[in-house]
Amino acid sequence: MNTFLQYNPTRLFFGKDQITQIPSELGRKGLNVLVVYGGGSIKKNGVYDNVMEQLAKAEATVYELSGVEPNPRLATVKQGVDICKRENIDFLLAVGGGSVIDCTKAIAVGAKYEGDPWDLITQQAPIEDALPLGTVLTLAATGSEMNQVSVITNWDTHEKLGWGSPYVFPTFSILDPANTKSVPMDQTVYGIVDSMSHALEHYFHRTENTPMIDGFIESLLRTALQNGPKLVENPQTYEYRETMMYLSTTAFNGTLSNGTDGGDWATHGIEHALSAIYDIPHGGGLAILFPNWLEHVLEEDPTRVKQLAVNVFGISDESKTDSEVAKEGAKALRTFWNSLGAPSQLSDYDIDDQHFDDIIQKTFIRPTVGTYKELDHDSVRDILKRSL
Ligand code: NAP
Ligand code: FE
Repeated sequence: MNTFLQYNPTRLFFGKDQITQIPSELGRKGLNVLVVYGGGSIKKNGVYDNVMEQLAKAEATVYELSGVEPNPRLATVKQGVDICKRENIDFLLAVGGGSVIDCTKAIAVGAKYEGDPWDLITQQAPIEDALPLGTVLTLAATGSEMNQVSVITNWDTHEKLGWGSPYVFPTFSILDPANTKSVPMDQTVYGIVDSMSHALEHYFHRTENTPMIDGFIESLLRTALQNGPKLVENPQTYEYRETMMYLSTTAFNGTLSNGTDGGDWATHGIEHALSAIYDIPHGGGLAILFPNWLEHVLEEDPTRVKQLAVNVFGISDESKTDSEVAKEGAKALRTFWNSLGAPSQLSDYDIDDQHFDDIIQKTFIRPTVGTYKELDHDSVRDILKRSL
């Protein structure tokens, strides 16, 4: 194992009616609170009213920023920053899925910076402060509710960038699985794919002697295999939503990188480039790319993909080569996601090879792509071609 620091300051309130924790979590009464949300799902499912009731109890002065897009955009971040500066906002409350939370994190740092928030996201200026933020999560997928990561799209330049800072850990997050019952089926499936992808990205590390973490990740993935189909069959069942919500938070809250080099993350890099150009859902892009990334890497070294195949998918390795077992593992992942209704090829989104050069260039917006296997331009092209 590597040396590591386990640090996560987010206070997580998990379960029914935990929204009532908001007034005490705000710290004191009478704050100026900016509530950030998306396209209106929270007004249909009652979450908006419940949040406002709690903010009234806290005697907060409430401001609102609505209309945060899936794949949140820099222009919306700037709107939020303007409100913060104009109204002396004390606290940001994100109510929604990963897009709303990620946008709120960018507003939090932008509000404490004089220049363009894109400077902070591109790491051209250091992040030295942020407004505090809390979240009420309504979609189980990204883990953003308990991590220091955010992903923002600059639609002018078609760049989608992941960034992070310890300043943007939410101070608290409210996770009531009942609030996810209204998530439509396609987004429910994307959430399963994204959280499994986070576990998989962590799994492909190069650190020796990590049986605890490898076992945690394999267990999380096996739970997803068991729970995913039940949830898709019975989306109104609280217990399946509950399992999914805890799973997605755990898949990306720092736990799974304890003592490792942190994992690979190349597939996320390629997916960000893809949705920067085509604006497709993150989980949909990952469902297409990840099995092809597995097939690409196993050709050079099947060891780890084989371990995944045996320990997670229960594939027998008797009288087969490592490569054969690994290939069955990659296929099993694709088959599982397809069985839930996830897309499996770029043509499912009417994407062909005409912008491959652009996707490759935008993938290399960061200096290196992948750690388990560091990809070059030809490798990314190979994964994209397999995905057609
Ligand atoms: P999302 O983009 O936040 O939401 C997708 C859709 O689901 C929206 O249309 C939203 O509608 C709807 N929705 C959310 N909750 C709902 C509910 N309870 N009932 C009905 N509809 C609901 O989806 P996401 O997968 O959580 O976030 C994706 C973004 O996160 C991508 O940009 C991705 O790159 C990023 N990401 C971030 C991290 C991280 O660690 N920060 C990790 C992975 C991915 P409304 O807009 O109307 O609410
Ligand atoms: Fe993700």
